[in-house]
Amino acid sequence: MMVIGKDKVAEILVKGVEPAAVCESGETVVFETRDCYDDGVVDEARPLGDKECPLENPATGPLYVRGALPGDVLKVEILDIVPRSWGVMRSSPVAGVFRQDFDKRTARIFTLKDGETVFDEKLTLKLDTMIGVIGTAPAGEGITTDTPGSHGGNMDCRKIVKGSVLYLPVNTEGALLSMGDLHGLMGDGEVMICGLETGGTVTVRVSVVKDCHVPTPFLYCRGDVMTIQSAETLDEAGDLAAKAMKNFVKEATGKDDFGAGMLMSLLSNMAVCQVVDPLKTVRVEFPLKVLKAYGYSLP
Ligand code: CA
Ligand code: CA
Repeated sequence: MMVIGKDKVAEILVKGVEPAAVCESGETVVFETRDCYDDGVVDEARPLGDKECPLENPATGPLYVRGALPGDVLKVEILDIVPRSWGVMRSSPVAGVFRQDFDKRTARIFTLKDGETVFDEKLTLKLDTMIGVIGTAPAGEGITTDTPGSHGGNMDCRKIVKGSVLYLPVNTEGALLSMGDLHGLMGDGEVMICGLETGGTVTVRVSVVKDCHVPTPFLYCRGDVMTIQSAETLDEAGDLAAKAMKNFVKEATGKDDFGAGMLMSLLSNMAVCQVVDPLKTVRVEFPLKVLKAYGYSLP
């Protein structure tokens, strides 16, 4: 199996760069990822880390997928995510909802074992490891890995887990897929500033889908399909995600605006992915089984 090591990382998703690896459509590829602190915060006594110039949110890649052309969709089936044996969280005095509560950075290292982590003597948490940064090269200028957008990127969507299927736009030949910023656990909003930051290995099957009518970034997770949109404000991101899903439901069911609108009001759930990145991210979830009742199946 092809493996892209965590020596192949970048802080920007951009077209026109040399790929870290090249694969065929339908191939399975393993990405080894660093954590969002560039694997630099390893000791609670040194919350600023050891590296002189650490990368911010390094993403492993990019992977060039043969046959992917602008206008296609890249289907990314997340077959497995294995976090490493430890994770880290760090407070920030400059970002996050609680930034005014902190005058310095404080770090906490967690042991990750058997799918769990001990928070303290009273609380053990079950992990649900997700991918924070995953995206293709954007259409225009490069976009740094701290920012989400229509190319994916730093969406911090806790539904991007093992078993999920993510559909991303192909904006340049080969798609140029990158990923990183794993979280062993994260709540919707990511309010303090981070998840349970970790590195690990992600195994994906990547397939080029031609003539694909899903509103990217588009996700399947645990019975629901989801639109994911990012914007300056949560209001704007929510509207974009709901409208993208409504148009998709219309096409998938054959309903008119009123019919699709009713289905959305009855059955869709809007949730905040994160409020701490340069753009805010909202997802809208809709049950796939309802679409199946109208004969729809995922590409
Ligand atoms: Ca992130
Ligand atoms: Ca993170």
